[in-house]
Amino acid sequence: MTSSPPPAQPPLSADLPRTDLTRHRRLREQGSLDRADLDAILDAGFVCHLGVVVDGRPLVVPTVYGRDERWLYLHGSVASRSLAGDLPVCVTVTHVDGLVLARSVFEHGVNYRSAVIHGVPREVTDPDEKLVGLRTLTEHATPGQWSYARRPNRKELAATTLLALSLEEASVKIRTGAPDDGDGPDAELGVWAGTLPLTSTWGAPVPDPVLPPDIPVPEHIARREGARQG
Ligand SMILES: Cc1cc2nc3c(=O)[nH]c(=O)nc-3n(C[C@H](O)[C@H](O)[C@H](O)COP(=O)(O)OP(=O)(O)OC[C@H]3O[C@@H](n4cnc5c(N)ncnc54)[C@H](O)[C@@H]3O)c2cc1C
Repeated sequence: MTSSPPPAQPPLSADLPRTDLTRHRRLREQGSLDRADLDAILDAGFVCHLGVVVDGRPLVVPTVYGRDERWLYLHGSVASRSLAGDLPVCVTVTHVDGLVLARSVFEHGVNYRSAVIHGVPREVTDPDEKLVGLRTLTEHATPGQWSYARRPNRKELAATTLLALSLEEASVKIRTGAPDDGDGPDAELGVWAGTLPLTSTWGAPVPDPVLPPDIPVPEHIARREGARQG
């Protein structure tokens, strides 16, 4: 079954909407309504957690994603129950930037950037849009790979479900900086307090052991060694 791509949509608002689903109820000071923060969090990662209720039970699966200005794309096997489409989902992207070690255990925390997207994804069945979505997904994780590796053939496309989730209804939280108990009574305890930063970097490419030795690492992969991820 194929369907036409959705009609052209107006651009998304620069501010994230406050809806019943996205309104922060706790730790509100960590919330951001700036869509640019959402974009930056999505661009800094490529793995999300997709939450969906399947057969009456919650199921949260890690999965890769890609995005354009309006849609978050998710893909997988046509047999995936989490990719049924037309069901409400919640997608979370999390970057951990460090531990926040306070004087009291109660005040311990995490420095982070996280995004939550709510919506009902549509299954992309239009062949042209499906290829565009899969390219977006591939290029999001590994820029340059779509034009380097073999692209999906008809059989592979038929075995792949592609979902598009609108980026309209989304929320962001960001925590940075020192522990919160530096000016409270626990400051007198003489306990060390501060942050322990956490970063991820890409390692050196490891060739497949069966790869002929005359095939070089392509530039778009080699250049990522040592680059920060997240
Ligand atoms: C790595 C990490 C570790 C955390 N550890 C803890 C912890 O141990 N204890 C704890 O209480 N909290 C923790 N948080 C914060 C947690 O994610 C929630 O924001 C917080 O607990 C409030 O939850 P709630 O159920 O009251 O959400 P509510 O405020 O009721 O959520 C309402 C809406 O706000 C939005 N929202 C909520 N949380 C987030 C978020 N993190 N990012 C983007 N949008 C969000 C969603 O759209 C949600 O539907 C952690 C966050 C991260 C990223």
